Amino acid sequence: MTNEERAVINAKIEQLWNTAPAVIGDYNGVEWKKFERARNRLFKKLGPGCRYCGGQTEFFMLRNDLWHKVVGVEPGRRCYGAGYVCLACVADRLFPRQLYDSDFGEEGRNADDADAVRPGLNPMLDWTDPETGHQYEFGFAIAYPNEGAEPVVKIETMTEVYGGPEELWDVVWDQLFEQLYEHIDWVEDYCQAHGLKLFIDGEEQKLGEAAS
Ligand SMILES: [Zn+2]
Repeated sequence: MTNEERAVINAKIEQLWNTAPAVIGDYNGVEWKKFERARNRLFKKLGPGCRYCGGQTEFFMLRNDLWHKVVGVEPGRRCYGAGYVCLACVADRLFPRQLYDSDFGEEGRNADDADAVRPGLNPMLDWTDPETGHQYEFGFAIAYPNEGAEPVVKIETMTEVYGGPEELWDVVWDQLFEQLYEHIDWVEDYCQAHGLKLFIDGEEQKLGEAAS
């Protein structure tokens, strides 16, 4: 599906959300059934993944007012079931506003709260070494600076090994980082666009010269 086709369907979804008289919760009501049918038809066309780019999405909660902006639903209208949006598209659609750690989680995320939703923790990436059969799982979390904090985005990675040595060989790191970069390459552009530094596992990353 082309981006233009996606944009047309997304505009229809926005219109449906902003105009449907359906009352969410009234699951037997005629208006709700009409809304649900139209919604399912549109989302079926888009397929799984991010509404806007079709890419892989993480699961996290975004502050309600920001979620309304991301999916183009007017304030005051209910915004449940409006699909999933990847972090790269969230950042794009909120631009020039920066993302803050406090944007995530139902009430905003507290960095000290280990149970809070950390964007980027899902999905766990995995790789099986074809030579040894060892399985590796790989996760990452992205921390955004809150307003007034040091302008640094921090990505922390975590690795689990099943059946293999605890010390990871370079070839394993290469595999895992290749996968990681597929998920976070947008963060580099994001940091450049907002004048932020990027640290991965405590190491500052060199960002390209030209902002895209
Ligand atoms: Zn996306």
